[in-house]
Amino acid sequence: MVLSSGGSHAATRMASIIPISDVRSAANPHAHRDALNAFVLAAAHAAPLAPGPVADARGRTLHDLRISVTDRCNFRCVYCMPKDVFDTDYRFLPHGDLLTFEEIARVARIFVDRGVSKIRLTGGEPLMRRNVERLVEMLANLGEVDLTLTTNGALLAKKARSLADAGLTRVTVSLDSLDDATFRAMNDVDFPVGKVLEGIDAAAAAGLNPLKINMVVKRGTNDASIVPMARHFKGTGHIVRFIEYMDVGATNGWRMDDVAPAAEVVRAIDAELPLESADPNYTGEVAQRWRYKDGSGEIGVIASVTQAFCRDCTRARLSTDGKLYTCLFATDGYDLRSLLRSGFADAQIGNAIAVVWTRRADRYSEIRTANTVRIPKVEMSYIGG
Ligand code: SAM
Repeated sequence: MVLSSGGSHAATRMASIIPISDVRSAANPHAHRDALNAFVLAAAHAAPLAPGPVADARGRTLHDLRISVTDRCNFRCVYCMPKDVFDTDYRFLPHGDLLTFEEIARVARIFVDRGVSKIRLTGGEPLMRRNVERLVEMLANLGEVDLTLTTNGALLAKKARSLADAGLTRVTVSLDSLDDATFRAMNDVDFPVGKVLEGIDAAAAAGLNPLKINMVVKRGTNDASIVPMARHFKGTGHIVRFIEYMDVGATNGWRMDDVAPAAEVVRAIDAELPLESADPNYTGEVAQRWRYKDGSGEIGVIASVTQAFCRDCTRARLSTDGKLYTCLFATDGYDLRSLLRSGFADAQIGNAIAVVWTRRADRYSEIRTANTVRIPKVEMSYIGG
């Protein structure tokens, strides 16, 4: 969609009011955040952009929304929420800072009006948010939205049926190894594989199909689990997706040497279970698809480090406390919660979202260097994986 000329003009005007890039290097550590907040406030008051879908500065149309419903998790995966940082002294968000279900549903509807047709609930561990089924029900009532959820599976056996009944369409389960010792070491809370497999079975029985199983591959940690994982789920209808370990957040001590490139993963599986490449289901699909030559299913690889796909990224992220992030690797977000809590109308909030999106030019993964890795990016548990 092309913005009306009035819309483009308004966006240009906004850019001249608050030169965000100028304050990134300022002495005040909160200057950038303050500037984003002032920007979003001004955007809510700005001349309205044309209603409906919006494209960003690189022509990418807003399509997906990931919502982090809690920054807490019952796992301490070594690559995501390492125990030495997320320990008993770690200050998670206080309850009052979290968006309520009503606020989430309201802002989600505004995003849908701006072109979002796919919503994923995530976190932290989304099944730890009390009564999350009630939120699922509210979002399912938004209409033609593909509504999914990503979980570590620990509570899934208990909740699969109620989530499906509430209107969840599908589920993605993270599982980094079928080897119990490896899995327990990676989740770092000694959680057994068997319980996650029970959750996967319960989700399939509840109709949350096709299930996707996400495995983050960390070289030297779980690369020996790649082929067994593929073999285990081959022929089940579930789709395993092997994800390159990324430098999200600032706490996981990421090094390029720890990344097992997706091409290597495909080679390892193909050597034992022959594969052929498959076309994407739609433009911008995150995973590259490979199907088994014997027709027994498919796998995916997400090569976010070795073959960055920023040019197709149409995802916005809403953090647990209601900030809008336009990139997984961002350092700050735009505070929508303050708009939600201070009497702004839906149209104004929609306008703020549209103005932010029209200015979006992020392409972190394409410009990643040894230096960018050290930027204090927000944690994935807070922004939503
Ligand atoms: N707790 C839920 C779960 O485990 O699926 C949802 C949140 S978790 C942050 C979402 C996904 O991000 C998981 O599949 C997790 O493995 C993945 N993830 C976390 N840190 C990552 C990293 N550094 N690189 C690649 N993927 C990562």
